[in-house]
Amino acid sequence: METRNNERTHTERGAGTLESERLEFAGGQGRIAVYPGSFDPVTCGHLDIIQRASRQFDTVIVAVLNNTSKNPLFSVEERRELLAEVTKDIPNVRIDSFRDLLVRFMRSQGARTIVRGIRSVTDFEYELQMASTNHQLDGEIETIFMMTNPKYSYLSSSIVKEIAKFQGSVKDLVPPVVQSALTTKFPGRPS
Ligand code: ADP
Repeated sequence: METRNNERTHTERGAGTLESERLEFAGGQGRIAVYPGSFDPVTCGHLDIIQRASRQFDTVIVAVLNNTSKNPLFSVEERRELLAEVTKDIPNVRIDSFRDLLVRFMRSQGARTIVRGIRSVTDFEYELQMASTNHQLDGEIETIFMMTNPKYSYLSSSIVKEIAKFQGSVKDLVPPVVQSALTTKFPGRPS
């Protein structure tokens, strides 16, 4: 009898706490994940992760890092526009940008899950360090990793820019709208 009472008290307290905590943190909008990155520009590898994450979470916020120490090809606004265009058919994806600490941005959005993609052991080492740092800064934030689609395991924004710079074809690497944007940045050689 005592055990049952204890169990019930524990369960009731536990359930109540979890529910109110969940609502407080998620702002009543369900499970929100943030997929942060440079996206300079968005590639088919990024898009694959966004599509898969959108099936696992109620809302996915793709957050462009406004990093003044990098020298990007596309401005934050251009990167956001390209992301918005390529995700326009996924209703639960939203595009945003941030320049603050990621964990602070997460709090402001009521999100507690970071989504990152892993392509290789090299990615893993860097990502482990980032995930541990963010967890250290805010113990309620979790990072989850999605393995790359093998089709895109070699693909990065840098590789795409390198190919486009020398007028190589990036047709299968980025969505068509990104391909056009790259052509504008790197006009073809005069004939
Ligand atoms: P960052 O500068 O933060 O690494 P990126 O735009 O390069 O920004 O990458 C954002 C995230 O997307 C990272 O977690 C990266 O590992 C992941 N990512 C990049 N390209 C791919 C790909 N081809 N397949 C899976 N994940 C990828």
